[in-house]
Amino acid sequence: MVPKAITKRGDTILPKIYLIDVTNRDGVQTARLGLSKLEKTMINVYLDEMGVFQSEFGFPTTRHEQYYLQANLEMVQQGILKNIILSGWIRGIVEDVELAIKRVPGIKHLNLSQSTSNQMIDGKFQGRKTRDDIIGEMTAAVDAALSHGIQSVGVNAEDASRTDVDFLVKYGQAAKTHGAVRLRYCDTLGYDNPFSIYETARTLAQQVQLPIEIHCHGDLGMAVATSIAGAKGAIDGGQDAYINTTVNGIGERAGNADLVSVILAITKSKDFGKKYQLAGDVKLDTAWKIAQFSSYAFGVEIPINQPGVGKNCFAHASGIHADGVLKDPQNYELYSYEELGRGEPVLVETGREICTGQYSGISGFRHVVDVLSNKIPEDITLPESKEEANKILELVRYANVETHKPLVEDELMFICQYPDIVRKLLTMAPLA
Ligand SMILES: [Zn+2]
Repeated sequence: MVPKAITKRGDTILPKIYLIDVTNRDGVQTARLGLSKLEKTMINVYLDEMGVFQSEFGFPTTRHEQYYLQANLEMVQQGILKNIILSGWIRGIVEDVELAIKRVPGIKHLNLSQSTSNQMIDGKFQGRKTRDDIIGEMTAAVDAALSHGIQSVGVNAEDASRTDVDFLVKYGQAAKTHGAVRLRYCDTLGYDNPFSIYETARTLAQQVQLPIEIHCHGDLGMAVATSIAGAKGAIDGGQDAYINTTVNGIGERAGNADLVSVILAITKSKDFGKKYQLAGDVKLDTAWKIAQFSSYAFGVEIPINQPGVGKNCFAHASGIHADGVLKDPQNYELYSYEELGRGEPVLVETGREICTGQYSGISGFRHVVDVLSNKIPEDITLPESKEEANKILELVRYANVETHKPLVEDELMFICQYPDIVRKLLTMAPLA
Protein backbone atom coordinates (compact mmCIF):
# COMPACT_ATOMS: atom_id res chain seq x y z
CA MET A 1 0.00 0.00 0.00
CA VAL A 2 1.34 3.41 -0.99
CA PRO A 3 1.23 6.22 1.60
CA LYS A 4 -0.91 9.16 0.47
CA ALA A 5 1.22 11.74 2.19
CA ILE A 6 3.75 12.19 4.97
CA THR A 7 3.04 14.74 7.69
CA LYS A 8 5.58 17.22 9.07
CA ARG A 9 6.07 14.87 12.02
CA GLY A 10 6.94 12.10 9.59
CA ASP A 11 3.71 10.10 10.09
CA THR A 12 2.35 8.49 6.98
CA ILE A 13 -1.24 9.18 5.99
CA LEU A 14 -2.69 6.15 4.30
CA PRO A 15 -5.50 6.31 1.77
CA LYS A 16 -8.92 5.36 3.10
CA ILE A 17 -12.25 4.04 1.88
CA TYR A 18 -15.18 6.47 1.84
CA LEU A 19 -18.80 5.49 1.36
CA ILE A 20 -21.03 7.26 -1.15
CA ASP A 21 -24.55 5.92 -0.95
CA VAL A 22 -26.57 6.15 -4.16
CA THR A 23 -29.92 4.78 -2.94
CA ASN A 24 -31.58 8.12 -3.68
CA ARG A 25 -30.30 8.05 -7.27
CA ASP A 26 -29.58 4.50 -8.50
CA GLY A 27 -31.97 2.88 -6.02
CA VAL A 28 -34.96 5.00 -6.92
CA GLN A 29 -34.46 4.73 -10.68
CA THR A 30 -34.97 0.97 -10.43
CA ALA A 31 -37.86 -0.54 -12.36
CA ARG A 32 -40.98 -1.11 -10.23
CA LEU A 33 -39.43 0.63 -7.20
CA GLY A 34 -39.25 4.14 -5.86
CA LEU A 35 -39.29 6.37 -2.79
CA SER A 36 -41.37 9.38 -1.88
CA LYS A 37 -39.60 12.66 -1.26
CA LEU A 38 -40.09 12.26 2.50
CA GLU A 39 -38.70 8.71 2.35
CA LYS A 40 -35.67 9.94 0.38
CA THR A 41 -35.18 12.59 3.06
CA MET A 42 -35.35 9.97 5.83
CA ILE A 43 -32.71 7.91 3.98
CA ASN A 44 -30.44 10.99 4.03
CA VAL A 45 -31.13 11.43 7.76
CA TYR A 46 -30.25 7.78 8.51
CA LEU A 47 -27.15 7.85 6.28
CA ASP A 48 -25.96 10.99 8.09
CA GLU A 49 -26.51 9.33 11.44
CA MET A 50 -24.56 6.29 10.20
CA GLY A 51 -21.56 8.45 9.28
CA VAL A 52 -21.72 7.82 5.52
CA PHE A 53 -19.54 10.35 3.69
CA GLN A 54 -21.90 11.34 0.89
CA SER A 55 -25.42 10.73 -0.37
CA GLU A 56 -26.11 11.04 -4.08
CA PHE A 57 -29.43 12.55 -3.20
CA GLY A 58 -31.16 12.92 -6.53
CA PHE A 59 -31.56 14.44 -9.95
CA PRO A 60 -31.29 18.26 -9.94
CA THR A 61 -32.43 18.58 -13.56
CA THR A 62 -35.70 16.76 -12.80
CA ARG A 63 -38.49 19.17 -11.97
CA HIS A 64 -40.30 17.08 -9.40
CA GLU A 65 -37.05 16.70 -7.43
CA GLN A 66 -36.22 20.39 -7.08
CA TYR A 67 -38.04 21.26 -3.85
CA TYR A 68 -36.98 18.02 -2.19
CA LEU A 69 -33.35 18.75 -3.14
CA GLN A 70 -33.59 22.37 -2.00
CA ALA A 71 -35.18 21.38 1.30
CA ASN A 72 -32.45 18.80 1.98
CA LEU A 73 -29.76 21.38 1.25
CA GLU A 74 -31.47 23.65 3.77
CA MET A 75 -31.23 20.78 6.26
CA VAL A 76 -27.45 20.88 5.78
CA GLN A 77 -27.41 24.65 6.32
CA GLN A 78 -29.50 24.33 9.46
CA GLY A 79 -27.36 21.51 10.84
CA ILE A 80 -30.22 19.00 10.72
CA LEU A 81 -27.97 16.93 8.45
CA LYS A 82 -24.68 17.24 10.29
CA ASN A 83 -21.83 15.82 8.25
CA ILE A 84 -23.10 14.16 5.12
CA ILE A 85 -22.35 15.71 1.73
CA LEU A 86 -25.28 15.85 -0.70
CA SER A 87 -24.40 15.48 -4.36
CA GLY A 88 -26.60 15.58 -7.44
CA TRP A 89 -26.30 13.33 -10.48
CA ILE A 90 -26.55 14.75 -13.98
CA ARG A 91 -25.27 14.00 -17.46
CA GLY A 92 -21.81 15.39 -18.15
CA ILE A 93 -22.97 18.15 -20.47
CA VAL A 94 -23.07 21.93 -20.03
CA GLU A 95 -26.87 22.10 -20.48
CA ASP A 96 -27.41 19.78 -17.52
CA VAL A 97 -25.01 21.75 -15.34
CA GLU A 98 -26.83 24.99 -16.09
CA LEU A 99 -30.27 23.48 -15.61
CA ALA A 100 -29.22 21.86 -12.32
CA ILE A 101 -27.98 25.17 -10.95
CA LYS A 102 -31.13 26.95 -12.13
CA ARG A 103 -33.46 24.41 -10.53
CA VAL A 104 -31.40 23.86 -7.36
CA PRO A 105 -29.42 27.06 -6.79
CA GLY A 106 -27.86 25.91 -3.51
CA ILE A 107 -26.34 22.74 -4.94
CA LYS A 108 -22.62 22.46 -4.21
CA HIS A 109 -21.59 18.96 -5.30
CA LEU A 110 -22.20 17.25 -8.63
CA ASN A 111 -21.43 13.97 -10.35
CA LEU A 112 -21.27 14.31 -14.12
CA SER A 113 -21.81 11.18 -16.19
CA GLN A 114 -20.72 10.23 -19.69
CA SER A 115 -20.72 6.82 -21.35
CA THR A 116 -17.16 5.76 -22.16
CA SER A 117 -17.33 2.29 -23.78
CA ASN A 118 -17.39 1.85 -27.54
CA GLN A 119 -20.47 -0.30 -27.02
CA MET A 120 -22.37 2.62 -25.49
CA ILE A 121 -20.86 5.46 -27.56
CA ASP A 122 -21.69 3.62 -30.79
CA GLY A 123 -24.77 1.84 -29.48
CA LYS A 124 -26.44 4.89 -27.95
CA PHE A 125 -25.28 7.72 -30.19
CA GLN A 126 -25.22 5.72 -33.46
CA GLY A 127 -22.21 7.54 -34.94
CA ARG A 128 -23.20 11.02 -33.72
CA LYS A 129 -20.45 11.16 -31.09
CA THR A 130 -16.77 10.20 -31.02
CA ARG A 131 -14.59 9.50 -28.02
CA ASP A 132 -13.12 12.99 -28.39
CA ASP A 133 -16.65 14.42 -28.22
CA ILE A 134 -17.21 12.54 -24.96
CA ILE A 135 -14.09 14.06 -23.40
CA GLY A 136 -14.88 17.49 -24.86
CA GLU A 137 -18.42 17.51 -23.46
CA MET A 138 -17.30 16.24 -20.06
CA THR A 139 -14.49 18.80 -19.66
CA ALA A 140 -16.79 21.63 -20.78
CA ALA A 141 -19.32 20.49 -18.18
CA VAL A 142 -16.64 20.39 -15.45
CA ASP A 143 -15.57 23.92 -16.43
CA ALA A 144 -19.17 25.12 -16.35
CA ALA A 145 -19.82 23.56 -12.94
CA LEU A 146 -16.70 25.06 -11.38
CA SER A 147 -17.35 28.46 -12.91
CA HIS A 148 -20.79 28.42 -11.25
CA GLY A 149 -19.22 27.82 -7.84
CA ILE A 150 -19.76 24.07 -7.50
CA GLN A 151 -17.38 22.93 -4.75
CA SER A 152 -16.71 19.37 -5.85
CA VAL A 153 -17.20 17.76 -9.22
CA GLY A 154 -16.81 14.03 -9.73
CA VAL A 155 -16.86 12.56 -13.23
CA ASN A 156 -18.47 9.23 -13.96
CA ALA A 157 -17.30 6.82 -16.63
CA GLU A 158 -20.44 4.84 -17.43
CA ASP A 159 -19.73 1.27 -18.59
CA ALA A 160 -16.09 1.71 -17.57
CA SER A 161 -15.63 -2.04 -17.19
CA ARG A 162 -16.24 -2.46 -20.93
CA THR A 163 -13.99 0.52 -21.79
CA ASP A 164 -10.33 0.03 -22.63
CA VAL A 165 -8.14 1.28 -19.85
CA ASP A 166 -6.11 3.64 -22.05
CA PHE A 167 -9.24 5.64 -22.84
CA LEU A 168 -10.29 5.66 -19.19
CA VAL A 169 -6.88 7.06 -18.26
CA LYS A 170 -7.23 9.76 -20.92
CA TYR A 171 -10.77 10.56 -19.73
CA GLY A 172 -9.65 10.70 -16.09
CA GLN A 173 -6.61 12.83 -16.82
CA ALA A 174 -8.70 15.31 -18.81
CA ALA A 175 -11.18 15.50 -15.90
CA LYS A 176 -8.36 16.08 -13.44
CA THR A 177 -6.78 18.82 -15.57
CA HIS A 178 -10.13 20.62 -15.59
CA GLY A 179 -10.53 20.37 -11.81
CA ALA A 180 -12.61 17.25 -11.13
CA VAL A 181 -11.87 15.70 -7.73
CA ARG A 182 -12.78 12.05 -8.39
CA LEU A 183 -13.13 9.54 -11.19
CA ARG A 184 -16.08 7.18 -10.87
CA TYR A 185 -15.42 3.77 -12.38
CA CYS A 186 -18.86 2.36 -13.17
CA ASP A 187 -19.15 -1.36 -13.58
CA THR A 188 -22.55 -0.52 -14.99
CA LEU A 189 -23.46 -4.04 -16.09
CA GLY A 190 -21.79 -5.92 -13.23
CA TYR A 191 -19.27 -7.34 -15.73
CA ASP A 192 -16.12 -7.12 -13.60
CA ASN A 193 -14.80 -9.76 -11.25
CA PRO A 194 -12.72 -8.93 -8.17
CA PHE A 195 -9.46 -9.71 -9.99
CA SER A 196 -10.17 -7.62 -13.10
CA ILE A 197 -11.46 -4.58 -11.20
CA TYR A 198 -8.50 -4.67 -8.82
CA GLU A 199 -6.06 -4.36 -11.73
CA THR A 200 -8.00 -1.61 -13.48
CA ALA A 201 -8.62 0.46 -10.35
CA ARG A 202 -4.95 0.27 -9.39
CA THR A 203 -3.87 1.34 -12.88
CA LEU A 204 -6.31 4.24 -12.88
CA ALA A 205 -5.21 5.40 -9.43
CA GLN A 206 -1.56 5.30 -10.49
CA GLN A 207 -1.95 6.89 -13.88
CA VAL A 208 -4.77 9.40 -13.34
CA GLN A 209 -3.75 10.23 -9.77
CA LEU A 210 -7.26 11.03 -8.64
CA PRO A 211 -9.28 9.26 -5.96
CA ILE A 212 -11.25 6.45 -7.60
CA GLU A 213 -14.96 5.78 -7.03
CA ILE A 214 -16.03 2.18 -7.42
CA HIS A 215 -19.63 1.70 -8.63
CA CYS A 216 -20.60 -1.95 -8.97
CA HIS A 217 -23.71 -3.91 -9.89
CA GLY A 218 -24.75 -7.44 -9.00
CA ASP A 219 -25.53 -9.01 -12.38
CA LEU A 220 -22.99 -11.77 -11.67
CA GLY A 221 -23.56 -11.82 -7.91
CA MET A 222 -20.31 -10.05 -7.09
CA ALA A 223 -21.19 -6.40 -6.39
CA VAL A 224 -19.78 -6.35 -2.85
CA ALA A 225 -16.72 -8.42 -3.77
CA THR A 226 -15.89 -6.25 -6.78
CA SER A 227 -16.45 -3.10 -4.69
CA ILE A 228 -13.89 -4.01 -2.06
CA ALA A 229 -11.45 -5.42 -4.63
CA GLY A 230 -11.72 -2.18 -6.60
CA ALA A 231 -11.20 -0.15 -3.43
CA LYS A 232 -8.09 -2.20 -2.65
CA GLY A 233 -6.82 -1.52 -6.18
CA ALA A 234 -7.33 2.23 -5.81
CA ILE A 235 -5.57 2.29 -2.44
CA ASP A 236 -2.71 0.09 -3.65
CA GLY A 237 -2.37 2.63 -6.47
CA GLY A 238 -1.92 5.35 -3.83
CA GLN A 239 -5.35 7.00 -3.92
CA ASP A 240 -8.41 7.16 -1.70
CA ALA A 241 -11.22 4.82 -2.68
CA TYR A 242 -14.92 5.69 -2.65
CA ILE A 243 -17.41 2.84 -2.77
CA ASN A 244 -20.93 3.43 -4.09
CA THR A 245 -23.56 1.55 -2.12
CA THR A 246 -27.33 1.34 -1.82
CA VAL A 247 -29.37 0.38 1.22
CA ASN A 248 -30.29 -3.31 0.92
CA GLY A 249 -28.56 -3.36 -2.47
CA ILE A 250 -31.64 -1.96 -4.24
CA GLY A 251 -30.67 -0.75 -7.71
CA GLU A 252 -30.94 -1.31 -11.44
CA ARG A 253 -31.63 -4.97 -12.40
CA ALA A 254 -29.80 -7.23 -9.92
CA GLY A 255 -28.95 -4.22 -7.77
CA ASN A 256 -25.91 -2.42 -6.39
CA ALA A 257 -23.43 -3.19 -3.63
CA ASP A 258 -25.39 -3.38 -0.37
CA LEU A 259 -24.33 -0.71 2.14
CA VAL A 260 -24.28 -2.92 5.23
CA SER A 261 -22.56 -5.82 3.42
CA VAL A 262 -19.84 -3.47 2.17
CA ILE A 263 -19.19 -2.20 5.71
CA LEU A 264 -19.10 -5.77 7.02
CA ALA A 265 -16.80 -6.91 4.19
CA ILE A 266 -14.35 -4.07 4.89
CA THR A 267 -14.35 -4.38 8.66
CA LYS A 268 -14.89 -8.12 9.25
CA SER A 269 -13.35 -10.06 6.35
CA LYS A 270 -10.06 -11.83 6.87
CA ASP A 271 -7.28 -9.30 7.46
CA PHE A 272 -8.80 -6.74 5.05
CA GLY A 273 -9.50 -4.04 7.63
CA LYS A 274 -5.95 -4.09 8.97
CA LYS A 275 -4.71 -2.30 5.88
CA TYR A 276 -7.81 -0.97 4.16
CA GLN A 277 -9.93 1.13 6.46
CA LEU A 278 -13.11 3.10 6.35
CA ALA A 279 -12.70 6.84 6.65
CA GLY A 280 -14.53 8.61 9.45
CA ASP A 281 -16.71 7.14 12.12
CA VAL A 282 -19.13 4.73 10.44
CA LYS A 283 -21.70 3.53 12.95
CA LEU A 284 -22.56 -0.06 12.09
CA ASP A 285 -25.08 -0.13 14.95
CA THR A 286 -27.51 1.93 12.86
CA ALA A 287 -27.55 -0.81 10.17
CA TRP A 288 -30.69 -2.55 11.39
CA LYS A 289 -32.67 0.69 11.52
CA ILE A 290 -31.77 1.93 8.03
CA ALA A 291 -32.26 -1.53 6.48
CA GLN A 292 -35.70 -1.87 8.07
CA PHE A 293 -36.79 1.58 6.98
CA SER A 294 -35.54 1.06 3.42
CA SER A 295 -37.34 -2.28 3.21
CA TYR A 296 -40.62 -0.69 4.35
CA ALA A 297 -40.20 2.37 2.14
CA PHE A 298 -39.36 0.42 -1.03
CA GLY A 299 -41.88 -2.29 -0.15
CA VAL A 300 -39.20 -4.95 -0.64
CA GLU A 301 -38.69 -7.53 2.09
CA ILE A 302 -35.18 -8.14 3.33
CA PRO A 303 -34.13 -11.62 2.17
CA ILE A 304 -33.92 -14.06 5.07
CA ASN A 305 -30.21 -14.62 4.38
CA GLN A 306 -29.14 -11.01 3.73
CA PRO A 307 -25.79 -10.33 5.45
CA GLY A 308 -26.14 -8.72 8.88
CA VAL A 309 -29.80 -7.79 8.73
CA GLY A 310 -31.53 -10.91 7.35
CA LYS A 311 -33.84 -12.80 9.69
CA ASN A 312 -31.59 -15.86 9.72
CA CYS A 313 -28.25 -14.13 10.28
CA PHE A 314 -28.22 -15.03 13.97
CA ALA A 315 -30.61 -18.00 13.92
CA HIS A 316 -29.37 -21.50 14.66
CA ALA A 317 -31.34 -24.74 14.51
CA SER A 318 -29.12 -27.73 13.95
CA GLY A 319 -27.90 -29.50 17.07
CA ILE A 320 -24.19 -28.98 16.59
CA HIS A 321 -24.55 -25.28 15.68
CA ALA A 322 -27.03 -24.47 18.47
CA ASP A 323 -24.90 -26.21 21.07
CA GLY A 324 -21.78 -24.46 19.77
CA VAL A 325 -23.28 -20.97 19.67
CA LEU A 326 -24.78 -21.33 23.14
CA LYS A 327 -21.38 -22.24 24.54
CA ASP A 328 -19.64 -19.42 22.72
CA PRO A 329 -21.36 -17.32 20.00
CA GLN A 330 -18.06 -16.93 18.19
CA ASN A 331 -18.18 -20.62 17.35
CA TYR A 332 -20.77 -19.89 14.67
CA GLU A 333 -21.12 -16.10 14.42
CA LEU A 334 -18.54 -13.88 12.77
CA TYR A 335 -19.91 -10.74 14.44
CA SER A 336 -22.56 -10.03 17.05
CA TYR A 337 -26.11 -8.87 16.41
CA GLU A 338 -25.61 -6.02 18.88
CA GLU A 339 -23.00 -4.53 16.55
CA LEU A 340 -25.71 -4.04 13.91
CA GLY A 341 -28.16 -2.50 16.35
CA ARG A 342 -30.26 -5.68 16.53
CA GLY A 343 -31.66 -7.34 19.60
CA GLU A 344 -34.37 -4.96 20.78
CA PRO A 345 -37.80 -6.57 20.87
CA VAL A 346 -40.17 -5.27 18.20
CA LEU A 347 -43.75 -4.66 19.28
CA VAL A 348 -46.33 -5.36 16.62
CA GLU A 349 -49.90 -4.21 17.18
CA THR A 350 -52.30 -7.11 16.82
CA GLY A 351 -55.47 -5.35 17.94
CA ARG A 352 -57.13 -2.08 16.98
CA GLU A 353 -54.90 0.34 15.16
CA ILE A 354 -55.40 3.91 13.99
CA CYS A 355 -53.20 4.66 10.97
CA THR A 356 -52.21 7.87 9.24
CA GLY A 357 -53.46 8.38 5.70
CA GLN A 358 -54.14 11.00 3.09
CA TYR A 359 -57.76 11.24 4.32
CA SER A 360 -56.99 11.15 8.06
CA GLY A 361 -58.98 13.39 10.37
CA ILE A 362 -57.97 15.27 13.49
CA SER A 363 -59.42 12.80 15.96
CA GLY A 364 -57.51 9.80 14.57
CA PHE A 365 -54.37 11.88 14.23
CA ARG A 366 -54.63 13.03 17.87
CA HIS A 367 -54.73 9.35 18.88
CA VAL A 368 -51.60 8.59 16.82
CA VAL A 369 -49.83 11.55 18.45
CA ASP A 370 -50.87 10.38 21.94
CA VAL A 371 -49.44 6.90 21.30
CA LEU A 372 -46.27 8.42 19.89
CA SER A 373 -45.84 10.78 22.85
CA ASN A 374 -45.18 7.82 25.14
CA LYS A 375 -42.17 6.73 23.09
CA ILE A 376 -40.33 9.79 21.84
CA PRO A 377 -37.21 11.54 23.17
CA GLU A 378 -37.81 14.54 25.42
CA ASP A 379 -36.33 17.10 23.02
CA ILE A 380 -39.03 16.48 20.42
CA THR A 381 -42.26 18.39 20.90
CA LEU A 382 -45.47 17.07 19.45
CA PRO A 383 -48.28 19.42 18.44
CA GLU A 384 -50.28 20.52 21.47
CA SER A 385 -52.74 23.13 20.28
CA LYS A 386 -55.53 22.27 17.87
CA GLU A 387 -54.10 24.71 15.37
CA GLU A 388 -50.65 23.14 15.45
CA ALA A 389 -52.09 19.64 15.21
CA ASN A 390 -54.12 20.61 12.15
CA LYS A 391 -51.01 22.03 10.51
CA ILE A 392 -49.04 18.83 11.07
CA LEU A 393 -51.99 16.67 10.04
CA GLU A 394 -52.14 18.46 6.70
CA LEU A 395 -48.47 17.60 6.06
CA VAL A 396 -49.08 14.00 7.11
CA ARG A 397 -51.90 13.77 4.57
CA TYR A 398 -49.72 15.14 1.80
CA ALA A 399 -46.91 12.74 2.72
CA ASN A 400 -49.38 9.89 2.38
CA VAL A 401 -50.50 10.99 -1.06
CA GLU A 402 -47.15 9.77 -2.37
CA THR A 403 -46.77 6.57 -0.36
CA HIS A 404 -50.26 5.19 0.32
CA LYS A 405 -48.96 3.59 3.48
CA PRO A 406 -48.89 4.67 7.12
CA LEU A 407 -45.94 6.84 8.10
CA VAL A 408 -43.44 5.27 10.47
CA GLU A 409 -42.77 6.90 13.83
CA ASP A 410 -39.50 8.49 12.67
CA GLU A 411 -41.32 10.13 9.77
CA LEU A 412 -44.06 11.46 12.05
CA MET A 413 -41.48 12.83 14.47
CA PHE A 414 -39.57 14.41 11.58
CA ILE A 415 -42.73 16.17 10.38
CA CYS A 416 -43.43 17.44 13.92
CA GLN A 417 -39.86 18.69 14.30
CA TYR A 418 -39.36 20.28 10.90
CA PRO A 419 -42.74 21.22 9.42
CA ASP A 420 -41.30 23.99 7.23
CA ILE A 421 -38.73 21.63 5.68
CA VAL A 422 -41.43 19.02 5.07
CA ARG A 423 -43.77 21.57 3.51
CA LYS A 424 -41.06 22.43 1.05
CA LEU A 425 -39.91 18.91 0.19
CA LEU A 426 -43.48 17.79 -0.43
CA THR A 427 -44.05 20.60 -2.90
CA MET A 428 -44.60 19.65 -6.53
CA ALA A 429 -46.15 21.90 -9.13
CA PRO A 430 -46.34 20.25 -12.55
CA LEU A 431 -48.40 23.05 -14.09
CA ALA A 432 -46.28 25.94 -12.83
ZN1 LIG B 1 -25.49 2.07 -11.33
